[in-house]
Amino acid sequence: MKKPQKGIHHITVLGGDGQRTTDFYVKTLGLRMIMKTVNQDDPSTYHLFYVNGTKKPGSSMTFFPWPMAVQGKSGSGEATVVSFSVPAGSEAYWAERFGEQDVDFKGPFERFGRNVMRFADPDRLKLELVFEPGIGKVSAWDKGTVPPEHGIRGFWGTVLSIKEAEATGALLEKVFGFEKQEEDGNLSLYQTKADIGSAVILEKTEPKQGTTGRGIVHHVAFRAKDDEEQEWMRREVIKHGLHPTRQIDRHFFRSVYFQSPGGVLFEIATDGPGYEAVQAEEDLGRKIWLPESLEHRREMIEKRLPEITV
Ligand code: ZN
Repeated sequence: MKKPQKGIHHITVLGGDGQRTTDFYVKTLGLRMIMKTVNQDDPSTYHLFYVNGTKKPGSSMTFFPWPMAVQGKSGSGEATVVSFSVPAGSEAYWAERFGEQDVDFKGPFERFGRNVMRFADPDRLKLELVFEPGIGKVSAWDKGTVPPEHGIRGFWGTVLSIKEAEATGALLEKVFGFEKQEEDGNLSLYQTKADIGSAVILEKTEPKQGTTGRGIVHHVAFRAKDDEEQEWMRREVIKHGLHPTRQIDRHFFRSVYFQSPGGVLFEIATDGPGYEAVQAEEDLGRKIWLPESLEHRREMIEKRLPEITV
């Protein structure tokens, strides 16, 4: 089979207060809330999804909000930065917006030939805007709070801080179709040819113990075109001596999970069937969606969840 050229599907983060997270990603960053559902492994808590204008993989930032969670502290063996792609030339717009909304930011500074602005979300997760030439052709959400010409197009990529940079790089190349592009000190840039979600920066670090909690990335998911490609990737992962799960049906995509050599939890997620396959357009992100297996408990589940509005 031809090597897939895909990239990041979604990134899932442990959050704090769901309303505060929603306010930040929707009102401050201009993303669309696309899915309000429960954590399928713990239906007493939410799973919230925010995307760009296309609803396609490569832009889904998802959260397990847990209001009582302690503040996490990032260490090695995890994704420590999440980067969003915005059009080059939008630097002044975002600097002014962040100034108005009291979002502390650094930059723009240059990294791998692009301007980067760094800031943090309310749970101190490190975020970046990467000002990418040519990204304007991908749709931002046009009904959001940011004018579409400056809006977030999806992920640019993520930074994985790990000791096992070589083994992780080999996995990115052989399983997920990334190519090593450049090195700068302890940073190595790997990319695919996808429009969004196409970059992973490996930051080679000494082992450092972090603390899990809010603001910590839970896992990074990579795209598989369909079940067949996912199964091919799963077998490749096994060839690397790793131990992927069987396929789990998440209803709007299907997932396989495994621990990467550096200890980061990776997922392989199918592109389809997509959010619109499970819920009507007008209900997306508004009405709580539950899988069939939990529908009979809807009343109780909804009663226990705090209300979250956009
Ligand atoms: Zn996931």
